[in-house]
Amino acid sequence: MNSLATQQRSFYCHLPSWLVGVISAALLLHGPIAQLPHYHEFADQSVWCGLSHAADVLSNGGFALVALWGMWRLWPVRTHPAIKAGWCAYRLFLVSLFLTAFGSGFYHLAPDNARLLWDRLPIALAFAGLLAAVRAETVVTASIDTVRQRRDVIGFVMFAVISVAWWFFTDRQGAGDLRFYLLLQGLPLILIPLWQTLYGAASADRIAFAAALAVYVLAKLAEIHDHELAHALHAISGHTLKHLLATLAAAILVRRLVMRTRVLANAGSSATSATSVF
Ligand SMILES: [Zn+2]
Repeated sequence: MNSLATQQRSFYCHLPSWLVGVISAALLLHGPIAQLPHYHEFADQSVWCGLSHAADVLSNGGFALVALWGMWRLWPVRTHPAIKAGWCAYRLFLVSLFLTAFGSGFYHLAPDNARLLWDRLPIALAFAGLLAAVRAETVVTASIDTVRQRRDVIGFVMFAVISVAWWFFTDRQGAGDLRFYLLLQGLPLILIPLWQTLYGAASADRIAFAAALAVYVLAKLAEIHDHELAHALHAISGHTLKHLLATLAAAILVRRLVMRTRVLANAGSSATSATSVF
């Protein structure tokens, strides 16, 4: 019985690797995935104080605010047991989120493929940070192997940089290929819930990450329906809404991390007064 249970556990623990392998093989067989035609033709044409595409540009400000909030609340408690295992990667996530505000703002001022590089690079690094953080807290944390955790962060960073570089250089050759970048964007939707379930993450973590990922999916849907939503909502375009929803997704994650440190801190003391997470 024990042997069967061990085999079953071993199978499930290898499930994420198998899934990544199958998806990667499918993408390789599929061939290049090109960027949508007219990708840079966003619905937002607002001008504010001489700033073109003002709503799409300024709606990136939230990323910087959430990143600063995360750094402000988490940096002082970075050695706290509740976030220590994933801190190296969460720091990458927060720094990349901060840089996304400027990279994306720069791109939306005058959208073209050359500027899109500076939008996609920090986004890819933010995803790399998130994946490495959850992996450090679930798969690797049992051994508290900091060397392995750092190696994972470097691996994910390399994948993020290569995914964007591959698109950029193939685009320069006339046939941009988004496969690796899309894979990186899709992996958190599969791997984070799987890792958290397989390795018994706290239910509050699973709920918060699932909520953030669901909001991120809504953000991607808003991005795809940029013009339709602008038509329907008038006040806001789909892409501007995407920025705001993605900001909300990041805020949900940061709030959960802050909550973790508060909950454990309160559990370890006799203080019973509620403490703000903001
Ligand atoms: Zn954008």
